[in-house]
Amino acid sequence: DLEIAIKVVIVGNGAVGKSSMIQRYCKGTFTKDYKKTIGVDFLERQIECEGEDVRLMLWDTAGQEEFDAITKAYYRGAQACVLAFSTTDRDSFDAIHSWKLKVEDECGEIPTVLVQNKIDLMDQSVVDPEEADLLSRALGCRLLRTSVKEDVNVNTVFRHLASRCLAE
Ligand code: GDP
Ligand code: MG
Repeated sequence: DLEIAIKVVIVGNGAVGKSSMIQRYCKGTFTKDYKKTIGVDFLERQIECEGEDVRLMLWDTAGQEEFDAITKAYYRGAQACVLAFSTTDRDSFDAIHSWKLKVEDECGEIPTVLVQNKIDLMDQSVVDPEEADLLSRALGCRLLRTSVKEDVNVNTVFRHLASRCLAE
């Protein structure tokens, strides 16, 4: 039977945990070593969603976030998007809006989820929970709080996007 493939782009400032999230979801591993790139364009995972076989292709950026050099090829054909920031990095939170615009420029309106990662470091938080809620409402996308390190809510992010895509 038919298999649905969904290209998902994960965007946000460097070091918020994008590569870690992809690795966690697709390989079940987590490392503390800061890696600039996972060395491939994307990793994938197959799931069942609403009775359908769905293949999620999670595209990673090769650490060029700070150079604004992410190519159009990276965004091309993306059907879903993760906007990620870190609990302990104010700049990454403030940059979310511009990341959203960049993706929208290339892909138009696609199912998008706002992710606040590193909630295991909530005691060092530089983002007010209410601010995060307000931003998610302003952007019109759901906010999910994750810890890739402790494997909290990571599956929920991609399950949510898959079902949003199937509903379209
Ligand atoms: P990227 O630049 O957005 O791809 O970020 P990375 O995935 O390379 O992660 C940057 C650093 O944050 C690495 O040292 C990760 O181990 C760490 N990291 C990622 N997710 C979490 C998390 O949920 N909690 C904590 N404490 N550290 C994390
Ligand atoms: Mg990375």
